[in-house]
Amino acid sequence: MIETDGLVHRYDETAAVDDVSLTIDDGEAVAVVGANGSGKTTLVRHFDALLEPDEGSVRVDGRDVTEEPVYARTRVGMVFQNPRDQFVAGTVGADVAFGPENLGLDRTEIDRRVDEALAAVEMAGRGDERIDRLSGGEQARVAVAGALAMEPDHLVLDEPLVGLDRSTCESVLEHLRSLSASGTGLVVVTHDLRDVVDLVDRVVGMGDGRVVLDAETERALDRLDEAGVRDPRC
Ligand code: ADP
Repeated sequence: MIETDGLVHRYDETAAVDDVSLTIDDGEAVAVVGANGSGKTTLVRHFDALLEPDEGSVRVDGRDVTEEPVYARTRVGMVFQNPRDQFVAGTVGADVAFGPENLGLDRTEIDRRVDEALAAVEMAGRGDERIDRLSGGEQARVAVAGALAMEPDHLVLDEPLVGLDRSTCESVLEHLRSLSASGTGLVVVTHDLRDVVDLVDRVVGMGDGRVVLDAETERALDRLDEAGVRDPRC
């Protein structure tokens, strides 16, 4: 479970996240939507203690993330917008193995996790391939596999569909749906709810650093219907 309580984050005088209290249960699939600059990325970076709160607190399973960042990072996997920013190794297998290796797991367990994570994103058997030779869509899938190999309770994806062509977009959504069905919680940051309407149960809308909407997807869609923008794009 991820909880923020009165979370405030300031980059300068203005608060990018302004008094956000939110609870995300294990297994929930949540979209965090809002215009560019509304504070979505800043909010989710706090879930893994990648930023420090100016006010308030963030807990994962009741444990304060500032005090126990390693715990938070094992339970909450992050996939950033540009996968190239998060690769640490030259080949697919080495990169996906990096997280589990840092948990000090034995080789058999690491290999099992790498194989499972690559299979989950349809990259099985491609561990020896160089990441810089992969397409953008394949790199996005390797980034997801790297987070999955940690076997997190929640997977946070920041704009996972931006820049993907239609068929890659559909395949990424398909993978996320099956992950969600198998019990992994999802937090999908997006500026366009249409991308993830079929994936999420709940929509948290951000505006100027605050939560301006927190509703089941159907209810959130009713509002979008009024605005005439319900159709998914991919
Ligand atoms: P979103 O993910 O919704 O686009 P962000 O969390 O990236 O929103 O940004 C929220 C606000 O904080 C914006 O006004 C943005 O310009 C500002 N901001 C984000 N990152 C930084 C940073 N590293 N330094 C200064 N301001 C930032």
